[in-house]
Amino acid sequence: MTEATSIAELMGGLDFDPATLKTKYLAERDKRLRTDANDQYVEVTAEFSQYVDDPYVTPGFTREPLLDRVEMAVIGGGFGGLLMAARMKEAGFDDIRVIEKAGDFGGTWYWNRYPGAMCDVESYCYLPLLEELNYIPEHKYSFAPEILEHSRRIARNYDLYDNACLQTSITNLSWDETTEHWIIETDRGDKMRARYVAMANGPLSRPKLPGIQGINDYQGHTFHTSRWDYAYTGGDSYGNLTNLRDKRVGIIGTGATAVQCIPHLGEWAKELYIFQRTPSSIDVRNNAKTDAEWAAGLKPGWQKERMDNFNILVSGGDQDEDLINDGWTDIFRNLTGIAAKLASRQLGRRLTKAERAELMELSDYKKMNFIRARAEAVVKDPSVAESLKPWYRQFCKRPCFHDEYLDTYNRDNVTLVDTQGKGVDGLTQTGVQVGGNHYEVDCLIFATGFEVGTTFTRRAGYDIIGRGGHTLSEHWADGLRTFHGLTSHGFPNCFFLGFTQTAVTVNVPHALNEQAKHLAHVLSRARQQGAPTVEATAEAENEYVELIQQSSTSGSRFYRECTPGYYNSEGKSGNNSGFFSDMFGGSPIKFFRMLEDWRADGSMQGLELR
Ligand code: NDP
Repeated sequence: MTEATSIAELMGGLDFDPATLKTKYLAERDKRLRTDANDQYVEVTAEFSQYVDDPYVTPGFTREPLLDRVEMAVIGGGFGGLLMAARMKEAGFDDIRVIEKAGDFGGTWYWNRYPGAMCDVESYCYLPLLEELNYIPEHKYSFAPEILEHSRRIARNYDLYDNACLQTSITNLSWDETTEHWIIETDRGDKMRARYVAMANGPLSRPKLPGIQGINDYQGHTFHTSRWDYAYTGGDSYGNLTNLRDKRVGIIGTGATAVQCIPHLGEWAKELYIFQRTPSSIDVRNNAKTDAEWAAGLKPGWQKERMDNFNILVSGGDQDEDLINDGWTDIFRNLTGIAAKLASRQLGRRLTKAERAELMELSDYKKMNFIRARAEAVVKDPSVAESLKPWYRQFCKRPCFHDEYLDTYNRDNVTLVDTQGKGVDGLTQTGVQVGGNHYEVDCLIFATGFEVGTTFTRRAGYDIIGRGGHTLSEHWADGLRTFHGLTSHGFPNCFFLGFTQTAVTVNVPHALNEQAKHLAHVLSRARQQGAPTVEATAEAENEYVELIQQSSTSGSRFYRECTPGYYNSEGKSGNNSGFFSDMFGGSPIKFFRMLEDWRADGSMQGLELR
């Protein structure tokens, strides 16, 4: 026990003034607030639709339309779809068809092949089904090509290629009451039927562009990071962008994607202009090759144990050992319940609510001071270093981890254009306009992220027509309505994987795996009972929606005080379109336990099996 009487004393004293930092954070946030929030972005349709064309396939693919029937159609071939199909096959359902817009499996890792793309969650936890496939990733943090190849490995291992419909987009999905099947129509002329559909279309899958003045005027080369044009830049995901040697390149955006590709652009472009609105928080990466001896000593069950350990630590829980021991677990150890528990132990009593909040706030300032000091230590030009300092709390934006990003700003050919929170003013025929200056570029790359907060059906690209012609867009017009985040009343045999009223986790495939296992259990029970349809009852859905509304954290003071971004509805107070809106407010541990208890109870309460 300590003699400390205040939180500050407990932390060994403060070498900063919290009030000054708070004022600075709010002032920086205010610079960025804008009334148009999500409307500042333009949808990638009509004249912008070329931004989502698939650059990785050979044009001209054709096949005969399918008019057949399958047991389950899984829509989306990323990790969600792969896990769903894998768990269903393990449960003895063989007739599974994955329908995927892209030319192959992989989802986000199919599309995001930009140079430097890598996973920033530890690969031994992140890559699904490692034990099942007897595969060990090459590095602690895998590079994108290995993750894409692992996706294909899963598809091969579970025999998903034979029945898959790749390069196929759904155009219509409707429930047929008479046959109790879904009718699926596609842009390949298919009209197939499926008893079950599993929607695994991913939460950050539809690229977005900034609706800036003159976006159509620019005559140079452009593309979005999720459709990297290697024909133009040369090279591949590992870099080597040789065609850029004589090019002036501009990149708009400095989020998690830009942080990974900017070091390669800096290395190869003749000149690189980085247009920054808000700097990311850049923590230490420390990637390393997998230790073969460690891998050889892993015991059966190791991946689940590791995933659970990580998930507990990044949900604010305590573990005797931190198996992952990285930037993520460091942040959570210091900024969540674990820190509060430690402080209670030191004080010999429970913290009051106010003390706990103070501890979290002060620890956050301390952490972000470290991040800001890192920028100052690495970047030689003090004014550039100053521009790269993030002035907001750690969880206002996705934390980034990189060991070469900051150093890129020390290159003579790299210019940071700090737009002071305003974003670029506009594009001209030849370049980018910011604050009275014009930057001529041969190529402009949009690292501007993905739609969040637009409707599910807009992101999917089609509506879902359920029982009695009722559409999902009508059913969810005032917000999501599900039971356990996985199914909705009026949409029998239709299941959602991903972030629809489920719990958010740092390790997304962990959540997808829990959802897939749960649904495979539900459908196994339906099969045992000879029930052709499974549907959430209206009562169960109402109760669950109420639970979500009570536990939602999206409108909290924390997010209101954050710099705008997709976590907090782009800073629009009272707007419920942030990433965490309509999500299960409790921890993922609580959410997974809720599903586990429900399965153990066995009564299938909330679902009607007919
Ligand atoms: P983000 O939405 O995170 O970033 C978009 C960037 O574009 C921001 O810097 C934003 O600025 C900027 N921007 C938008 N409009 C303008 C404008 N008008 N002028 C100037 N800048 C503008 O997208 P990312 O693709 O970087 O990342 C999306 C998500 O993908 C991440 O949050 C993460 O969840 C995931 N990801 C995961 C990785 C992994 O390793 N697992 C790797 C990469 C991405 P502002 O911040 O001011 O809004």
